[in-house]
Amino acid sequence: MPETFPAPPELYAEVAVPAAVTQTYTYRIPAAYHAAAGPGCRVVVPLGRQTLIGYVVAIHEQLPAALAAKLAGQPRQPPAVKDIAHWIDETPVINDEILALTQWVADYYYAPWGETLKVALPPGLDVRLEDWIDLTEDGRRAVQAGSVSPRTRNGRLLAWLVDVGGAVRLDDLPPDRFGKNPRQVARELEHLGLVSVTTRTGEATVRFKRRLVVRRIERPADQPERPLSPAQARVLAYLDETPTALVSELVAEAEVSPAVLRQMAKKGLVEIAPETIRRDPLAHLAHLPAEPAPELTPEQRQACEAVLAAHDSGRFRTFLLHGVTGSGKTEVYLAAISAVLQRGGSALMLVPEIGLTPLLARRLIQRFGSLVALLHSSLSPGERVDEWERIRSGDARVVIGTRSAVFAPLVNLRLIVVDEEHDTSYKQSESVPHYHGRDIAIVRASRLNCPVILGSATPAIETFQHTVVGKYTRLELPQRIGNRSLPEVALVDMREVFKRHREPRFISDELQTAIAETCSQGEQVMVLLNRRGFASCWLCRACGFVITCPHCSVTLTYHRTDHYLACHYCGYTTPPPGRCPECQGEGIAYVGEGTEQLEARLRELFPTLAIARLDRDTTRRRGAFERIFHDFASGSLNILVGTQMIAKGHDFPNVTLVGVVSVDAGLMMPDFRAPERTFQLIAQVAGRAGRGDRPGRVIVQTYRPEHYALATGCQQDYQAFFEQELIQRQAAYYPPFCVLATVIIRHERELEGQALGEKAAELLRAAIPQAAPADTPLRVLGPTPAPLARLRGEYRFQILLKGRQRMQIRHALGHMLPALTDTERRHVFIEIDPIDLM
Ligand code: ADP
Ligand code: ZN
Repeated sequence: MPETFPAPPELYAEVAVPAAVTQTYTYRIPAAYHAAAGPGCRVVVPLGRQTLIGYVVAIHEQLPAALAAKLAGQPRQPPAVKDIAHWIDETPVINDEILALTQWVADYYYAPWGETLKVALPPGLDVRLEDWIDLTEDGRRAVQAGSVSPRTRNGRLLAWLVDVGGAVRLDDLPPDRFGKNPRQVARELEHLGLVSVTTRTGEATVRFKRRLVVRRIERPADQPERPLSPAQARVLAYLDETPTALVSELVAEAEVSPAVLRQMAKKGLVEIAPETIRRDPLAHLAHLPAEPAPELTPEQRQACEAVLAAHDSGRFRTFLLHGVTGSGKTEVYLAAISAVLQRGGSALMLVPEIGLTPLLARRLIQRFGSLVALLHSSLSPGERVDEWERIRSGDARVVIGTRSAVFAPLVNLRLIVVDEEHDTSYKQSESVPHYHGRDIAIVRASRLNCPVILGSATPAIETFQHTVVGKYTRLELPQRIGNRSLPEVALVDMREVFKRHREPRFISDELQTAIAETCSQGEQVMVLLNRRGFASCWLCRACGFVITCPHCSVTLTYHRTDHYLACHYCGYTTPPPGRCPECQGEGIAYVGEGTEQLEARLRELFPTLAIARLDRDTTRRRGAFERIFHDFASGSLNILVGTQMIAKGHDFPNVTLVGVVSVDAGLMMPDFRAPERTFQLIAQVAGRAGRGDRPGRVIVQTYRPEHYALATGCQQDYQAFFEQELIQRQAAYYPPFCVLATVIIRHERELEGQALGEKAAELLRAAIPQAAPADTPLRVLGPTPAPLARLRGEYRFQILLKGRQRMQIRHALGHMLPALTDTERRHVFIEIDPIDLM
């Protein structure tokens, strides 16, 4: 009797797709893929009329009960549980930790899990999807039997398929030969059963790179030694020193031709084989001499020990390492990382988007050598894949990277460092998920029970407040290493300049004189203009008065087209006054000049000096940033002009003057964080000037020298700024006294957008009674036209949510979202903890 086997068990996969959906989908796993089936693999799945690459997040041995119940009520045509079309990865590309972390991120930021997983993987890992047409047996017979006329489009396509061997990529069909829409023809033939159309994965966008290496082969003892030619002898001698060498290397060093090497391979003297090489973004640093760690100062040692104590007790703890530029923060990170490595763990260090990475990568390499991997947005896709692979395999145990590196799959991660934690580039504002790298770092550390260090000279107000209330532990580095002094910061009152010249000046006499002096001594100057965004505000040049909202304590924004001033928080509007309400003067300005004008003006004033500009416009091309920086560092430029981009990053010991042309546009941005950003800018600029032996100078031009952010910024007194700012935040009810979320409605038709905004706001307001267990109820402000009222042809309306507790906001959103139709939902964009209220 034949043995009977039970039917193979069914398996189902839960798949997260990178599309604007909130749920995951269940697919049946065809038996052929059962062996590979596991969470963390990528698969190709049909969704509606699309075919997508999704991520398996769970495997079920039975159809999930809820889905089974839903299907029971439906006729089985068409089958509601679709099959996985193709299983891409044999081993998972996402581990369990990252799977769970991304799920948390997706849930917290109201983002699709699939989109979040996509962010966690290096883009170079993507595979392309291609549609293929295959001739079926029926199709082949039909052609042989001549039953399809070769004169029709269908017949022509079948004949073509036979000619090319039975299968062709849809994209490879010659254009126009099978009508305008060959896909349509293929579908018709598929309907007749003559061909099948399937989506397959193509080549990965990035391939492993190989090169040829030469190795010596040991001569078997029984083989007689043959005389060697001089060239062959040179090759073997070289290989005695260097067991594996590149073909190109031998050609150059042993002075032989490639033909000699091929001959030697034939004779069995050497082996020539391809070897996979890693694209190494740090290769140019590989030969740096190792740098011993300096002995830590008592403060540094204390800080490091506190972090290690948390590490050794296996506890999650958030530290704020607070110290001005040059106070030795980086040395503390390095010492802590080194100790963690010695204990067998690995460490992740996040850095802001721009500037700092090359310098820091250098210091890490000097300390930790080949254990270091770099994940940076400016690496090539190939470099990123290779670095990611080294991290995943555990070869790289120190990772330095920008925002998305927070998802790097380090093995046994035991310490996370977030340098310049206040930097806004940690927030992904442009695309979904709108996550904050620093905040995810903290969440990840808490899930791993390990310490996280946030470092900054100018911590975010929220972060510092957490140390005040004891949620985070503050570690202070009060002095610069070697007691080097901070540069002097001087304010130039532009109201005086206006009075003196009876016209506005871009560059004051004070700054002009200082530039001339500095350059004549062979020293360098940075001039920057802190202008973020597009909006201009109303300012009186005579007295510095600006118009602010009577309800919100933010500056009103001037709307040029319709000529009115508006508050972007509450919607208050007013016509711009013809005269200054304060001094009755008429010197009204809408502040908002650009760096381009600044560069032009400097060239007029200093025609003999070498000047370059660094901003988004001049650095669009890869490498442009580095080139301009290099020119400046080498001393071939006198003046570097730019946005705050130039205030970050490299050390230029020869820069002894930094001029800030205007902080006013930044200070008066319609954003409650404007004073904080201004303070940070001044502190950062001060950290740039005079890092060599010569003292530095900073000159800041402003119409509002009395503003507390500038006064405290000049003294570089963070504590004083923090205290003043906290009062403002409390009075106007902003973080850290509340948590924020925005709901943005984007719509191509203004009235419909407005109506949807009102509906959403109403739903949110209706949830307030239940959403308010705290002492302070949830506040729902708006809808109002967003500061960026129109973007890419869409109108934007904004609703601002202010909650005492996070749960209040989640509750209200949970009330609103299900009450929207699918169509409405597509116009609604949620941002949690927004950084830019634009
Ligand atoms: P930060 O990160 O706060 O800007 P760094 O760690 O880069 O400060 O330190 C500033 C400078 O002082 C660097 O050149 C660094 O090598 C040096 N330095 C830091 N700590 C020490 C120390 N304990 N002994 C000697 N030099 C140090
Ligand atoms: Zn207002």
